[in-house]
Amino acid sequence: MPEADFTVEVGDAHVAQVGHIQVRRSLPRHGRRNVGAWCFADHMGPLSVTATSGLDIGPHPHCGLQTVTWLTAGEALHHDSLGTEQLIRPGQLNLMTAGHGVVHAEEATGQYEGRLEGIQLWIAQPDATRDGPAQFEHLPTLPRVDFGHGVATVLVGEFAGIASPARHDTPLVGVDLELRGRVEVPLRADFEYALIVMSGGVDVAGSLDSEGQIGYLGLGHDSLALEAPEGAHGVLLGGTPFETPFMWWNFVARSREEAEAAYESWVRPDGRFGEVKRLLAPVMTPPPYWRTLGQARS
Ligand code: MN
Repeated sequence: MPEADFTVEVGDAHVAQVGHIQVRRSLPRHGRRNVGAWCFADHMGPLSVTATSGLDIGPHPHCGLQTVTWLTAGEALHHDSLGTEQLIRPGQLNLMTAGHGVVHAEEATGQYEGRLEGIQLWIAQPDATRDGPAQFEHLPTLPRVDFGHGVATVLVGEFAGIASPARHDTPLVGVDLELRGRVEVPLRADFEYALIVMSGGVDVAGSLDSEGQIGYLGLGHDSLALEAPEGAHGVLLGGTPFETPFMWWNFVARSREEAEAAYESWVRPDGRFGEVKRLLAPVMTPPPYWRTLGQARS
C-alpha cells in the first residue's frame, strides 16, 4: 500500500537536441530545477550508431559541475582536456569533475556499431570545489544490490548500505534500478529524491510513472515501494537540498556574470578550459540571451 503522506510530483521530460541526436530531458524543468545537487538529466536513445558516427558531440566546455555518464546499451568514447581517452560500456561509469574548467568530446568508438542508450547527469558542485581543479574518473565496475524483484547499481553515493567509489562533493546518491515486480528500497529522510523512468512503467507510491517521466518524491521518507509488474528501468536520484544554481549552456554557476565570464573564456579563448583536438569541430553557442534582452530594452 502506498504511504498516505507520499505525494509524488510527476513531470514529463521535454525533447531537446544535443548535437544531431534528440534526448529526453527530465532536469532541469520548470518548477523543479534540481534534486539535491543533481541539476541535469538527459536520456539519450535508444539510437543506432555506426563505428564512425554516434553521439558526435564535439569539444565543449564545462564548469561548476560533474558529468555522470551511464550507458545501458552500446559504447562511446570520451576525450577531455586533461588528456583522458576513455571508452565506456554498460555497467561502467564516467565521472568528469569540471571545477573551474574542462573541455570534453563524446564520440563514436571507431569500432562499435549497434544500439546506443544511456543517461547523462550533471551534479552541481558546491562552492568548496567548483573553482577547483578538473578531474576524471572511470569506474569499470560498480556495486550492485539485489532486491529479488529488482537490482540496484549504485552509481554515486551510498544506497542500502553499499557505497560507490565515485567522488561526490555533497551528500547525494544516484542509483540505476532494474525492476521486475515489487521492491521496497531504503531512503534517507534528509534526502529529497526523484525517480526518472527510462523504460517501462513504475507505480511510485500510487502515482503511475511512465517512460520519459520524472517523479519527484520530496524529503522525509525512510523507504519507497516501487511496483513494475511489466518490468522497468530507471534512475533514482537523491541528495540533501541544494540551492538552485544559475545554469546557462554548459555552465553551472551562481550568477549571470559568472556564466558570462565562462562564455568569454570559451569564445576568446583564454586557456581557462584547455583544449581537446578532435576531428569534430568545437561546439559554439550564441552569446548569452540576457545580452540581447539588454539591447532590446535600450
Ligand atoms: Mn558535456
